[in-house]
Amino acid sequence: MVLQNGMVSEQFDAFLLDLDGVVYLGDEALPEAVESVNRLDERDKELRFLTNDPRPQRQTIANNLRKLGIDAEEDEIITSGWATARYLSQQDVTTAAVVGSEGLEIELQEEGIEVTDDDPNAMVVGADEKTSYQDIQRAARHIHRGATFVGTNPDGSFPTPDGPAPGAGGIVRAVEAAAGTEPTVVGKPEPLMFEMALDGLADDVQAVVIGDNPATDVLGAHRAGITGILVAEDEPTAASARDLQQPDLTISTLANLFTDTTGTWEAPPYSWPDEIRPGVAAVVVNNADEVLLLKRADKEQWALPTGTVERCEPVGDAITREVEEETGLQIAVERLMGVYSHPEQQVFSYPSGKAVHFVTNCFRCTIEGGTPEADEEEALEVGFFDMNDLPSDILPMQPQWIADANDTDGSPAIR
Ligand SMILES: [Mg+2]
Repeated sequence: MVLQNGMVSEQFDAFLLDLDGVVYLGDEALPEAVESVNRLDERDKELRFLTNDPRPQRQTIANNLRKLGIDAEEDEIITSGWATARYLSQQDVTTAAVVGSEGLEIELQEEGIEVTDDDPNAMVVGADEKTSYQDIQRAARHIHRGATFVGTNPDGSFPTPDGPAPGAGGIVRAVEAAAGTEPTVVGKPEPLMFEMALDGLADDVQAVVIGDNPATDVLGAHRAGITGILVAEDEPTAASARDLQQPDLTISTLANLFTDTTGTWEAPPYSWPDEIRPGVAAVVVNNADEVLLLKRADKEQWALPTGTVERCEPVGDAITREVEEETGLQIAVERLMGVYSHPEQQVFSYPSGKAVHFVTNCFRCTIEGGTPEADEEEALEVGFFDMNDLPSDILPMQPQWIADANDTDGSPAIR
């Protein structure tokens, strides 16, 4: 939901609180944190305490919170280790090998998963201080033999008084490099842990995530479709106001949940991109002033020829290569007519779950030679269309691009 003006405590039913940096720092409670959590509890709010640390058992964290004066129950604690165990049992995994702590092994066992190195279904990596070269080797070999690779959390490091210490994410990436396989990662900023924190609550529950890290807590909240509040002294400076790491609100302590505040952020209608890629597109015009469109086998819509820029390839070469590969036509680039990067049009989500933000350079082009032909492999349909009578099933943003190509003032459109 969009954060309204007023008290945060009155707008939500469920509070998903990050632990380190929000409730405590090391062994010490943060100012006003214990009192504020207890005030939420008195108002019968659902509380969940989240940590990406895969090592401790939930029971241990609940005990630590009680020592600080917060009456937490084990089932209110969400660790990346427990969430991993839940995720695996939901996937009907019954055996797993583990690189990680005893606490992680116990969480897996409590979900009915046998911890074994004898041909396991899954390889869980949630490293701890004792992780060795042999562990990375063992993990890589299980994955090589077909075990599903699951990382508890992506954190490369975590802070200690003596400087950063390698986090489980650092070991996950070592295993990834050794096995040549990408893991499924459970912890923040993946949305899975937040979704699990809401399991068992009503579908229409109004939930909010409160964390101290824009890149994990706020991003993960927004990817899960939940309001994200940042606890920090200063407003973060995201590169773009459209960035999903931008919090709905920044507060300096949890006591601000009970003061009037003003929300600032609105959820955008696109996914968080895994990467940004340079793209090319062509408005290819024939002698009759018609534009070339394609219909790809995997798509239902007509579209301009497009492609991506390969390493070391100039954009002009990229578009002539793509058009020749897709249609058999040789083209000449006439001019750059637009650069398109607005995330509402240019973030594409794929069936694999990946999302890519394209920055597409679009060129007006003429035909040099060749005959347009459907490429058998991609089962393309190829056709030329009157620019004033485009097919109705065309990619929604592309009529604008075609109009930009006919704008004769000469300067490229920037959209
Ligand atoms: Mg934190």
